Amino acid sequence: MGKTTGFMEFPRRLPRRRPVSVRLRDWREVYEPFGEEATKEQGARCMDCGIPFCHDGCPLGNLIPEWNDLVYRDDWPDAMERLHATNNFPEFTGRLCPAPCETACVLSINQPAVTIKNVEAAIADQAWVDGAVRPRPPRRLSGKSVAVIGSGPAGLACAQQLTRAGHLVTVYERADRIGGLLRYGIPEFRLEKRHLDRRLAQMRAEGTRFRAGVAVGTDLDAAELRRRSDAVVVATGATVPRELPVPGRELAGIHQAMEYLPAANRACAGDSVGGAGRNTGRNTGRDTGRDTGRDTSGGEVGRPVVSAEGLRVIIVGGGDTGADCLGTALRQGAASVIQLDINPLPAPDRAPGQPWPVYPRSFRVSSAHQEARELAGLAGADWDDWLGPEPGPDGDVRVFSAFTLGFAAGPGGRVRALRLAGTELTRTERAGAERAGAERAGTGLAGGVPRQRRPRPGSEREVPADLVLLALGFTGPDPDSGVMEQFGLRLDEHGNFDRDDGFCGGQDGVFVAGDAGRGASLLVWALAEGRAAAAAVDRYLMGSSALPAPVTPADHPLTA
Ligand SMILES: Cc1cc2nc3c(=O)[nH]c(=O)nc-3n(C[C@H](O)[C@H](O)[C@H](O)COP(=O)(O)OP(=O)(O)OC[C@H]3O[C@@H](n4cnc5c(N)ncnc54)[C@H](O)[C@@H]3O)c2cc1C
Ligand code: SF4
Repeated sequence: MGKTTGFMEFPRRLPRRRPVSVRLRDWREVYEPFGEEATKEQGARCMDCGIPFCHDGCPLGNLIPEWNDLVYRDDWPDAMERLHATNNFPEFTGRLCPAPCETACVLSINQPAVTIKNVEAAIADQAWVDGAVRPRPPRRLSGKSVAVIGSGPAGLACAQQLTRAGHLVTVYERADRIGGLLRYGIPEFRLEKRHLDRRLAQMRAEGTRFRAGVAVGTDLDAAELRRRSDAVVVATGATVPRELPVPGRELAGIHQAMEYLPAANRACAGDSVGGAGRNTGRNTGRDTGRDTGRDTSGGEVGRPVVSAEGLRVIIVGGGDTGADCLGTALRQGAASVIQLDINPLPAPDRAPGQPWPVYPRSFRVSSAHQEARELAGLAGADWDDWLGPEPGPDGDVRVFSAFTLGFAAGPGGRVRALRLAGTELTRTERAGAERAGAERAGTGLAGGVPRQRRPRPGSEREVPADLVLLALGFTGPDPDSGVMEQFGLRLDEHGNFDRDDGFCGGQDGVFVAGDAGRGASLLVWALAEGRAAAAAVDRYLMGSSALPAPVTPADHPLTA
């Protein structure tokens, strides 16, 4: 596939990021378009490896070598067809996916991987420019109706598949706009919401109906929903944030990331209200062709209720949600930002226990980290003289091995400082971690390193803070929304909604898809689950199904 000698002729290239000084003044996407020639050249690097391990890396089973080849041959319409054969929303994954396909690419064994995700985004974007992405309404209707609860990527992919299969699908969403974390979690500078809106327009034109501002379990109970529908898909996400139960957590100025990010996304949309996008009003039940978009705050339009402007910000949590908080705080004009990670500084490349083709935990510099580095003086403290948490390299604003002990109060009950220490593993735990690493290196089996840590004695210090953002991940779906109880769902041992091999959970005809069943994961898994759950629902309704099912609930990512 691609050009036979392409991988020897062309180096791996990525789209350019807009200059930091420019992009921090707006909320537009960081990356410039890849361009037709660059896309073809990168597609040409795909080397006809015979067994494309990228397929195993991608939960959707995207036909990567096929569309690389088609792009290289300038056949954009067919590339678009093959891309959409496995992925409902490739312009989302092409922008947001961490690309486990690339770390599984055969070329990456001894050379930089094929630039898969950017080729994916470029094909999808070109398809929209060419007017090739059109509604695909069903040829005939089944007479069956399905309710999908939750409008994140899992719910949307599931709804689109089922609508196209001829079922009457209604998506219920408790927030005032459709999109789940694509709408209110991921910031505009990583996914401009116009991409989401045009997909929703496509789905409406195909016949999917949306009801925003309806919390199933309270506004609308299960019995009523079951009367209206032949099957129900619970795609309510893993929305319960992990807490940090340390002294001072109750102080003003300490927020969960999912209080902060939705407020910023709402400001971009012209709203003023903070919070997690929960609409307090009842929905009319009509599909007006747009989201309810009701702003209940009475505040100043276009300004978020929680803003980092002029403040010293500390982000607790070293993951992608923390990086989104960082990029958002920089755009809001924070005085300084530090991001704390309890884990040690990762290796720059694959560590020995994380061989190809697994997805390695290596040191990555996101666009937000690059922005923070380039803003001289933004890093909040000089860490070098202190044997505790470890500063990130080259002026990075991340601080590794950082253990948060608590918060100190200032005037008016507001946070004044964060109390911090270095992190260490206890002797037994370290031995356990080393043993687990050795076992994995020998067997290649996936497993978890014991993750109990404690503060390093004698390394305590205080770091000034006006705003603290907690980005510690999510514990699972909300067990108290009424959905679990009313649909007869149970929690599994990980705290997620339990389901069988066919995505069924709770009562007959109830299915669970996405983060609600898998736990907090990735967009690409949500899409794969949504597609697979749609196939299961279709089979339940019709006795058989031709819809694809790329994953089962038991499938796991290729990790060490
Ligand atoms: C800040 C942030 C950034 C991320 N960035 C990335 C990234 O770059 N790449 C990536 O691959 N993944 C990323 N993720 C993860 C990814 O967004 C999720 O894995 C994905 O959105 C899960 O999809 P979902 O449809 O299962 O759930 P969600 O997107 O969480 O959607 C669930 C929806 O259900 C609604 N809901 C819940 N209860 C009810 C109810 N009772 N009635 C009606 N509606 C209800 C919720 O309001 C929500 O809109 C990120 C996550 C976060 C938090
Ligand atoms: S969805 Fe993600 S894993 Fe799949 S091909 Fe695209 S970038 Fe790779």
